[in-house]
Amino acid sequence: MIITIDGPAGSGKSTAARKLAAHLQIPYLDTGAMYRALAYLAVKDNIDLDDGPALLEMTRSAKLDLDCGPTHTRVRVNGEDVSEAIRTMEVSRATSPIARTQGIRDLLVGKQRELGYELGSFVTEGRDQGSVVFANADVHFVVDADLDCRAVRRWQELRADGEDVDLEEVRANLAARDANDAKQWAPLLVPGKAIRIDTSHMTIREVVACLVEHVHETIGK
Ligand code: C5P
Repeated sequence: MIITIDGPAGSGKSTAARKLAAHLQIPYLDTGAMYRALAYLAVKDNIDLDDGPALLEMTRSAKLDLDCGPTHTRVRVNGEDVSEAIRTMEVSRATSPIARTQGIRDLLVGKQRELGYELGSFVTEGRDQGSVVFANADVHFVVDADLDCRAVRRWQELRADGEDVDLEEVRANLAARDANDAKQWAPLLVPGKAIRIDTSHMTIREVVACLVEHVHETIGK
């Protein structure tokens, strides 16, 4: 069984995907973590974020390892576990240049399909999982929320992680990423049979209950 959950940053898709995977006891693949791990590496290695060929070269030589379980995706780049370090604002800002480099996308899409093949049954989340990477998935979800709600959620997460950021800065980062993601590769193309959920006024429990119900309806369990 393959379940895709796509949506913008702060839509609640990561938490929902993780909880759905835990409920179904199948692995969870966070594809944003792959883009973030490369962004982390580019920042760490001082690579010019406007230099697409250099970013592609870095990606080709990077060793990206993912460990996907029902409650986690852990990511290592060149042997370093960066699962927590990739969540900072600095890394968030550096993800757009990574995501817009087509050669990098092609490599990551290939890697996601390989991982999917190994995992067999899984929940995957990102921007293009249902529309591009796993268009043949059993269930496609698109999870969204309005920008203000997403900004508050992301701001609270960053504060909980001890980062001293301003809500307005987080909001501006999300708006910029939305715009960049939209310009670059038409994200959130909704596959015909996708189920859309607006989480703006829903608790995470309600979102997960809604996902579980749709999965059961669709696969008839
Ligand atoms: O989901 P998350 O906010 O962690 O993703 C970080 C960035 O990675 C996104 O803003 C987007 O630019 C990129 N991304 C992508 N395709 C995916 C997942 C993430 O381009 N499947």
